Amino acid sequence: AVPLVVARSTAIAATNGLLIRDRTAFEEARNINAIIFDKTGTLTKGEFGITDTLVFDTTFTESDIVAYAASIEAHSEHPIAQGIVRDAPEAWGVDKFKAIPGKGAEGLVKDRDVKVVSPGYLRDQGLEMDDPRFETLSAQGKTVVFVLIDDKLAGAIALADIIREESAKAILMLQAMGIQCIMLTGDNQQVAEWVGQEIGLDEVIAEVLPEEKAAKVREVQSRGLIVAMTGDGVNDAPALAQANVGIAIGAGTDVAIETADIILVRSSPSDVVAIIELARATYNKMM
Ligand code: ADP
Ligand code: MG
Repeated sequence: AVPLVVARSTAIAATNGLLIRDRTAFEEARNINAIIFDKTGTLTKGEFGITDTLVFDTTFTESDIVAYAASIEAHSEHPIAQGIVRDAPEAWGVDKFKAIPGKGAEGLVKDRDVKVVSPGYLRDQGLEMDDPRFETLSAQGKTVVFVLIDDKLAGAIALADIIREESAKAILMLQAMGIQCIMLTGDNQQVAEWVGQEIGLDEVIAEVLPEEKAAKVREVQSRGLIVAMTGDGVNDAPALAQANVGIAIGAGTDVAIETADIILVRSSPSDVVAIIELARATYNKMM
């Protein structure tokens, strides 16, 4: 039988948009001393807009660069892809679309091989990129993706996301509760550090591939910490499962929601504070 105080807390939680799927994990939530947040879509809104377009190969114009990229991105679900498509002047048909998980996407556009990829992908391929504008844009917290046409660097697109209003306050409250706040992201190191400073995170772990996220959670646990993980994406699901408490935000993907112990209907980082306070109050009453 479920103790009355727990049943009552579960009901209070539900009416406040905090859905408890696993009661053991809810009990463990009072003990956690580290929280790992996914960046895009969790601490930020995951709503990207194009801020700058760079042209490296002048046989193309800025709008060519965006149009080639948008043609590819029209087939991707990634929040970066949605931003590029929304801001593109036009887009063309694509053959052989393929996602490059955690790094970008590719396909054939007008018989050209087009790739839209992360800085990490360029590094992996040994492609030189020494344009100083890349550093400047990254230091401003902008996410930069590169456009390769027939495997040559044609241009780049910088996009800005919006930090959720509640993020900084939630971090401050969690830290006051003795909980370390860490961000885990596939995005570039400089962008991650910029976001980390804006909202006062204790630590950022950047340039993590989707398949490495769960291992990073394990690494934080191996420091002797009891860890909650908050995420929204398909690629966050293994990390949510690995954490002592997996928290999905409501606007997240089905896979994340199915894997999580707790679901935050409102997609607000403040609700992470609320669920931990509720867990502490509930089980302290019973002790
Ligand atoms: P996050 O951990 O922030 O949710 P992801 O692991 O989904 O990030 O993506 C990591 C990085 O891979 C992005 O910052 C971007 O550089 C690149 N990337 C992934 N998918 C795409 C795409 N469809 N188009 C362009 N870049 C992409
Ligand atoms: Mg994400």
